[in-house]
Amino acid sequence: MTQPQQITVLGATGSVGLSTLDVIARHPSRYKVFALTGFTRLDELLALCVRHAPQFAVVPTTAGARQLQDDLHAAGLDTRVLVGEGGLCEVSAHPLVDTVLAAIVGAAGLRPTLAAVEAGKKVLLANKEALVMSGALFMQAVRRSGTVLLPLDSEHNAIFQCLPGNYADGLGAIGVRRILLTASGGPFRETPLPQLEHVSPEQACAHPNWSMGRKISVDSASMMNKGLELIEACWLFDTTPAHIEVVIHPQSVIHSMVDYLDGSVLAQLGNPDMRTPIAHALAWPERIESGVAPLDLFSIARLDFQAPDESRFPCLRLARQAAQAGGSAPAVLNAVNEIAVTAFLDRRIRFPEIAGMIDEVLNLEPVVAVSELEAVFEVDAKARALARQWLSRNAR
Ligand code: NAD
Ligand code: MG
Repeated sequence: MTQPQQITVLGATGSVGLSTLDVIARHPSRYKVFALTGFTRLDELLALCVRHAPQFAVVPTTAGARQLQDDLHAAGLDTRVLVGEGGLCEVSAHPLVDTVLAAIVGAAGLRPTLAAVEAGKKVLLANKEALVMSGALFMQAVRRSGTVLLPLDSEHNAIFQCLPGNYADGLGAIGVRRILLTASGGPFRETPLPQLEHVSPEQACAHPNWSMGRKISVDSASMMNKGLELIEACWLFDTTPAHIEVVIHPQSVIHSMVDYLDGSVLAQLGNPDMRTPIAHALAWPERIESGVAPLDLFSIARLDFQAPDESRFPCLRLARQAAQAGGSAPAVLNAVNEIAVTAFLDRRIRFPEIAGMIDEVLNLEPVVAVSELEAVFEVDAKARALARQWLSRNAR
């Protein structure tokens, strides 16, 4: 019998991380957890370690590591606890690892995900911000190492499933007219515009179809998530924003589509549950059980589609502009968005100010070419500093 694949789960305590561990636990002969990482909720990380007995765990601080190491020891486990970004990169690139699941939220995931790419691991990418920040460099690293990069984001996973195996030849060459990137429209799809001034973090995080982390939930409410996904799709499928149309589809049953020259449109459907794309990417090119219930088309009954309204969702326009501008612009967009979302969750700014702040900082920052990773981090740091200055002038 073949050995189980050794898996590192970056961001194991998050929504995608937990869904991944649920799928992995259904297939103990196929998959073995090699490392789990957490940033907060270290008691949950301990419980996950007890359940999956990884060889390594990674936490952000030395004090946290000491505590977790003692607790693991008391539980009779010999899991070794590593610290910080160095620890994350170590468990991503470790020679015994086969697959790295990149599910840290935000820019913090970039270095460990790239470490996995550079070490030639199979990388299952949920951490879209990493690709948005550094797309050109990230994809260069993928080509250089020849690694397998599979999208976990449900839309990109759907697009991948609707494309033939030779899609890297170029979407034009294989007869693709455009990608139809679906979006639920989030919780504020029909909220009267003046009320958006007063929506709370709790309302923004109450997504109608998906249960997710708080940052991506706010991004879904502002549709910045779709903007980041537009940029993500450009890199993953080597295409341009002009070839991607965003389609609001409130039921979240179709996870995206590919429109071919002959008029055929291929779609991937399923219940809105991340375990489907996770199971798909883990087992690809095979198929495994994910724990997701079969799709009941009779209870869904209808599928609706609408064009997005960019006056309601200015973040979508800003992301499209940043994608078209290229260079440093997507990294600035991402950095300011991360600061803005945190400020909104902390009730320091109102919901519409997320877009306002991103717009202003993007206008302040000239677009520059970024040809190395350190330049990306410099752009990221400068944009965050400008965003914090904006907050000190405007926030509550
Ligand atoms: P989450 O907030 O639930 O979990 C984030 C994980 O990252 C946690 O394990 C947390 O401990 C860790 N983390 C946070 N900050 C960190 C830091 N500075 N250093 C190291 N680790 C850190 O988020 P999520 O919803 O699971 O999303 C994770 C990623 O997957 C995001 O990039 C998101 O856009 C993407 N994604 C999520 C979903 C979903 O359904 N939740 C779907 C598609 C894509
Ligand atoms: Mg998505």
